[in-house]
Amino acid sequence: MDRARRRKFGQNFLDVPTAIAIAGDLPASEGEAVLEIGPGHGALTEHLLNRGVELTAVEIDEQCVAVLNEKFADRKNFHIENIDFLKFDLQKFLDEHEKPWVTGNLPYNVSTAIIAGLMPRLHLTKGFMGMVQLEVAERICASPCSSNYGSLSVLVSAFADTQILRKIGPEHFTPKPNVDSATMLLTPRANALQAPEGFFDFVRAAFTQKRKTLANSFGRPYDKKKIQEAIELLDYPTTVRAEELSPEQFLEFYRVIVQGA
Ligand code: SAM
Repeated sequence: MDRARRRKFGQNFLDVPTAIAIAGDLPASEGEAVLEIGPGHGALTEHLLNRGVELTAVEIDEQCVAVLNEKFADRKNFHIENIDFLKFDLQKFLDEHEKPWVTGNLPYNVSTAIIAGLMPRLHLTKGFMGMVQLEVAERICASPCSSNYGSLSVLVSAFADTQILRKIGPEHFTPKPNVDSATMLLTPRANALQAPEGFFDFVRAAFTQKRKTLANSFGRPYDKKKIQEAIELLDYPTTVRAEELSPEQFLEFYRVIVQGA
């Protein structure tokens, strides 16, 4: 049962030295609000609470919640919500807390959904510092023209300055995951993109066949002729590929094709 539970909830618990190092990377000061996603048994939580931050943890597993409530019963700066983070009212939390930091060793099965959901509200936070699978961190933090650059890189870099902080091997977890992990720092960009609705679906469509040139890489419903016309209008080389466009260029391209601007 325990093994099934761990798999279902993506539970890989950090060893103490690694948890201390990662918690130390969060630039939060005493009294500041911190939102921790997936505290598990409190490996990071404990070291963050010791720094005097006002910590709210969001944990899906009621067994972990019971452990944490007992462990941190005497900590006035510890608050916990037993809910799936994907159903958590993030906007309400942000309305009630002055620019919190967001952190966590994210459950790998939902880490992309969590990061994607957080991005449009990142400017209401101080930023995110936390852990995901290394391969996901490399995609999130990739620059244009690199092999890992894709729609997730565009989505995140539209809102955030990104940086990989630490690579963490499987030996630092119980049970050991099959993959490497990494922590990353995502801070709100000064000039975040004003992305219209539908923009990120457009970017995803552009990477449908990412090895092909932009004129041929789009999935449905985009019209090839319109794409070619926009490439000409914007004076992009005919050989341009999706992986060469910055988020700003994607927005410019989107405006020409979808909004006729
Ligand atoms: N923070 C702990 C650590 O580093 O040792 C545990 C990290 S473990 C990788 C991920 C944690 O997220 C687990 O405690 C798991 O129960 C919790 N979790 C999984 N899915 C979740 C979700 N949708 N919402 C909130 N918590 C979730």
